[in-house]
Amino acid sequence: MRRKLVIGNWKMNGSIAKNQLLLEAVIAGVQDLHHVDCVVCVPYPYLGQAQALAQGTKVIWGAQNLCASEDGVLTGGVSPHMLVDYGCQYVIVGHSERRMLSHETDDTAAARFIAAIKAGLTPIFCMGETKEERESDWTDYVVGRQLDSILRRFGPEVLAKAVLAYEPLWAVGTDNPATPEQAQQVHKFIRHRIAKCDAHVAKSVRILYGGSIQPSNAPALFAMHDIDGGLVGRCSLDAQAFVAICAAAN
Ligand code: PEP
Repeated sequence: MRRKLVIGNWKMNGSIAKNQLLLEAVIAGVQDLHHVDCVVCVPYPYLGQAQALAQGTKVIWGAQNLCASEDGVLTGGVSPHMLVDYGCQYVIVGHSERRMLSHETDDTAAARFIAAIKAGLTPIFCMGETKEERESDWTDYVVGRQLDSILRRFGPEVLAKAVLAYEPLWAVGTDNPATPEQAQQVHKFIRHRIAKCDAHVAKSVRILYGGSIQPSNAPALFAMHDIDGGLVGRCSLDAQAFVAICAAAN
């Protein structure tokens, strides 16, 4: 039985004052939800604040990206051990916004993925197709290729230490979520592909759906057999909505 997981991706939002109100409300709202893990991935400058507020509560915190290399000559870089220093357990890798806007490739995402694993962090590895790719019937090809960039390179065992997220680009940041059936179909495809390499890992790895999750659509998405929770963007900035999504997973 896979435990449900809901992760908030705050993206480039927040201020010390706003974060305090948001985090305190989330911490209070999820404290009695015993069957779901709740994570917030916050901007780098607020990791210390997240650690100070969330330590000892049900809320786990993480980051939205990391560098693949250790400390060194890389202006603006943040290394895996720096995230560990701030008590992070999770880090998002290969989000579509980074793949598209920051020229992340399958290779660079794979390098970040393995750097996170080596540091003891749990990477949240994002995959998903564009609208054009879906309309051309390339969803399995694209998602399969992204998955293989990890699976074929590092073997299935590393996935036991990771979380996967299916985030169709046409659903992220839009008001057009995948239907539960559309998402389930891709999640099942991902799980089957892993099962061909390692049935045990396939059964246990958590595969989250992300893309316009709201309190209204979360229950139907989370009821799907292969959907183990959600990666939530906009609604993670609204404590009431985020707690309601966590409650739906609970
Ligand atoms: C995301 O950015 O990962 C995301 C799922 O965003 P939203 O929930 O706003 O679609």
